[in-house]
Amino acid sequence: MNRLRRVCPITAISQELVKFDLQKLDQPEIQGVDYQRGELFGFEVKQYLLAKWQHQCAYCGVKDVPLQIEHIVAKSCGGTNRVSNLTLACQKCNQAKGNQPIAKFLKKKPDLLNRILAQAKKPLVDATAVNATRWELYHRLQQIELPVEVGSGGRTKWNRVNRGIDKSHWTDSLCVGATTPEKLIIKNIKPLLISAKGHGTRQRCRPNKFGFPKAHAPSAKYFQGFTTGDIVKAHIPTGKFAGRYTGRIAIRFRPSFVLHTLDKKFDVHPKYLKTIHKADGYEYK
Ligand SMILES: [Zn+2]
Repeated sequence: MNRLRRVCPITAISQELVKFDLQKLDQPEIQGVDYQRGELFGFEVKQYLLAKWQHQCAYCGVKDVPLQIEHIVAKSCGGTNRVSNLTLACQKCNQAKGNQPIAKFLKKKPDLLNRILAQAKKPLVDATAVNATRWELYHRLQQIELPVEVGSGGRTKWNRVNRGIDKSHWTDSLCVGATTPEKLIIKNIKPLLISAKGHGTRQRCRPNKFGFPKAHAPSAKYFQGFTTGDIVKAHIPTGKFAGRYTGRIAIRFRPSFVLHTLDKKFDVHPKYLKTIHKADGYEYK
């Protein structure tokens, strides 16, 4: 974040901290202002249930069909809207069950009945997303002197779908948090995609699949001033790949490197290359 702040005017941070907002899921009665119309809430519940019940009908196991939210104890029999009383069923099973108590509906399949009841009570463990890394990131972001808001993954998707935006990593990150503007102008915007590539390996002996030494990698990291991961401009005057390119190189210890551009990769002589960004363990596209 600090590195990004050097080049971009960042004024606030929105972090997707949890996959599902479990507190709101578990206590539907304390819905906040955002949940007034109940749409976001319903959306979040559905996403949660899909993950919890592995995107399949709890009764017949069918996949890839529209699934409906199903009350295990029917509302007419005093069942609640809590997620521990909800499951997913296909249209057919949902209708077949109707208002019957689940024990009656599944009286011929006691194993399935027990499995569903146990699964319903079990909170979705990874949904709590007490993914230690995310929390650590959250605490460190708070040490930066910028406003930090957090949102759930359910809200991200709700924001994105409501604005009619297609899914991709960068459009998802645009939609994180409650402060997402109503109108997002994303036409003609190209995101800067950064991925961690590491600094290579220290392993010098390359084994074959049986673990026997096959090759020995040179200990040098540089060749003619270049190292793997450098971002370069290439100006190739002649040949099959004549033209101007920008990309990331992987070096070899002879004057023939591999240049990765956005859409292709090919061999290139270092004399045509000019470094524009030294390797720092990241790839920028
Ligand atoms: Zn079914």
